[in-house]
This record gives sequence, C-alpha cells and structure tokens, in this order.
Amino acid sequence: MITLTYEYKLNLTKQQAEQINHDLEVCRKVWNYALRERKDWIASRKCPVNACSVRGEYIIAADEPYPSFKFQCQRLTASKKVNPELASVNAQALQQVLRRLDQAFERRRDLGAGFPRFKKVGRMRSYVFPQLGKTPLGQGRVKLPSLGWVAIRQSRPYPEGFVVKQARVVKRASGYYLMLSFQADIAIPEPPLVGHVVGVDVGLEYFLCTSDGLQVERPKFFVELQCKLKSLQRRLKRKQLGSANWKKAQAKVARLHEQVANSRKDFHFKQAHKLCDVADVIVVEDLNLIGLSRGMLGKHMLDAGHGQFLNSVLPWVAFKRGKATVKEDARASSQQCPACGAKTKKSLSDRWHRCSCGCDLPRDVASGLVLRNRFQKRCGAHSAENAPGEVLAGVSFGASSQDSVNGESPAIRAALAG
Ligand SMILES: [Zn+2]
Repeated sequence: MITLTYEYKLNLTKQQAEQINHDLEVCRKVWNYALRERKDWIASRKCPVNACSVRGEYIIAADEPYPSFKFQCQRLTASKKVNPELASVNAQALQQVLRRLDQAFERRRDLGAGFPRFKKVGRMRSYVFPQLGKTPLGQGRVKLPSLGWVAIRQSRPYPEGFVVKQARVVKRASGYYLMLSFQADIAIPEPPLVGHVVGVDVGLEYFLCTSDGLQVERPKFFVELQCKLKSLQRRLKRKQLGSANWKKAQAKVARLHEQVANSRKDFHFKQAHKLCDVADVIVVEDLNLIGLSRGMLGKHMLDAGHGQFLNSVLPWVAFKRGKATVKEDARASSQQCPACGAKTKKSLSDRWHRCSCGCDLPRDVASGLVLRNRFQKRCGAHSAENAPGEVLAGVSFGASSQDSVNGESPAIRAALAG
C-alpha cells in the first residue's frame, strides 16, 4: 500500500470561499467544545471524593462516562438535529475534527505533553473530507462533498493507477489549497543496502556535509528575512486591532512566513536529490532535534529545518528514486577519527579534525565518514575504519574548499576506496 499526497491550488468562486471559511469556523467551534468537554471531565476527577477543590472545577456525575471519540461522535450526531449551524457542514468533516482531537490526546498520553490548545478565530486552517463521491476527479476540477465542483490549478497530472481517498482543504496566506491523498495497493520492495554509501552529517556551520567531502552552505531563510519581518510587525502593531488595515498588514506577515517555509522546502528537496544523484545508501544521524532546538542555537536549528529534511523530505525522495536511507547512532561521531578510530576531543568551536595518525579533514566531513564507517561495520561491509591512517593523509582541504561545495570531490572518493 502506498499513499501519495498531491497538492493543488484552488481557484474558488467568492461563494465557495465563503462556504469554506464558514466550514472552518464551525470546525473550530466543534474542536473547542470537544476540548472543553474533555478538560472539564478530567478536572472533575482531580480531587478526592471527601475534599473540595480549591480551584473550583465543575462537578460532573460519577457515572458520567469519559467523553471519548465514540461518545463525542454520538453527541455530535444528536446535536446536528437541533443546531442548524452544525447541520450546515459535512458530517464526516466534523467527525474528523473529533478524531484529530482524539489523536492529540493520545499523543499527549504517549509523550506526556500538555493539553491540545483552544483555537482562536481564524486558527483552524484546514479540514478534511475523508470520503469523496464517485469519480470526483475531472480535468482542472474536483468534486467535493457539499461544495460541488471546485476549480483547481492543474499544476501536475493526477497519478495513474491510484485511487483518490481523501481531500484536505487548506487555507494559507496565499490562498486555498487542496491536498489529495492517492492510494494504490502495490508493494514496493525495500531498496537493497548495496552500492555507494554516503554518510551525511547535518549541522549549523554547513547545512550538510557528506563523507565524499561535499559541503553545502546553510541558507539563512528566516534570519535573512527577520529585518523585514520586524518592520512589518512594527507596522502591524500600530494598526487598530481588527481594522481593515490591520488585516492587510497581518496578511503581509503571514505571506512572509509562508515564503520562508516554501523556500526552505524547495532547498530541502534540491539537496535530497543532489544526495540521491551520487549515493545508493544514505546514512544519516539519529538526532534529538527537539532537544537541540531548545538550546542556545535553537533559532538557527529551526531555521535550517533539519527535522523536515531528515525525517520527511530525504526519505521520500530516496524512496522515489529507489535509494536507501539508514539512521545511524550519532553519539560522539564528531569526537572520533574516521581513519584510525581514536578519540579526538573537540569543542564546538574546533571546526577541523586533526589526528596524530595524519588524518586531516573538516570536522563535519570527518563525522560523516564516521557515520558511514559505523553503518558499514554494522552491516559487515568493507570498512574504511580498519584501513591504515595513511589512506587519508594525502587528502587536504583548504579552509573554504570551493571545489567540494559544488560536487563530490573525486580525489577523496578515490583515496577512500583505495
Ligand atoms: Zn586518526
């Protein structure tokens, strides 16, 4: 079973846009109501039977069942009969809101995180139709429940041999979008773990460094546009809250954020394809990204978006191109010599790896090599770790090696293969 998600921009009529805004607003209300219901029930069970709550929670009868997904769905169906606003929106779409809330509570339980949050006006940005009618796809248009035929910008053809399963309507600063999920019942074999192995180290000095010696500069999407954002937000602050001009200024801020996210995603896809051009097996580090983003360099960590790259874009591109991605333990990968395996202590500011065995490499390239070696050792392949230190001794880098930025350096590859 494989699922593809294709995104199309919607060309809506004024009426359709109003309908979608209305649907989103009702979804938001359902979300808030269901969340309040769950929070109240949980709060009412907090204090012992023989004591009063200091904070004053609602008293909910002892035999009242927990508002689970199933329970809330039943309530929703019943309320639709008396509430015309609820009845005006597709029933399945509303049920999906409850499901999403249920999933949020499950995540909360598993991760020990806080409650999901109430959504302010305009904060509900998407909703989903879990089922579409018969033959919902047409050239340049899609038939959605309760909305009818809506025009899309057909930026790419629908995938052949796939069945459309669900449609999600997304509202962004630049307009409305439709995300169609296509499914096909085919099994794709796992790509074999053979061929050219490339270790990839992601970081902040360079966005990524490979064991082949490729070093890619880190683009500073957000940081670069931060000045612009600052001035826009200053302008926004001076506007009267909720006025027409305030709305215009706010739309500008939102557009800027979207622009940043889009260019970041585009960059990630380009890098992933670049890696797949040269590698058959891509070894990446298993990073604790949440921990890192809370640190001192958090803003830069988030700006680079390593999580999106490592966890979604790279595996997806590799899957599409039949290449394998492997996660390898990254512990102390920067403190090890790739040639002789000796421990070489480095602080964060040491950007160069120099070992007594003669290994002389940029720090991140060295840790990329360590990752590659760890994978090869684990999978029993030829390991450069056991090679004599002289293998790497002849390789030397300039402080900013331009030649390696534009592509893999053949010299290093030849040296490492020998
Ligand atoms: Zn060494």
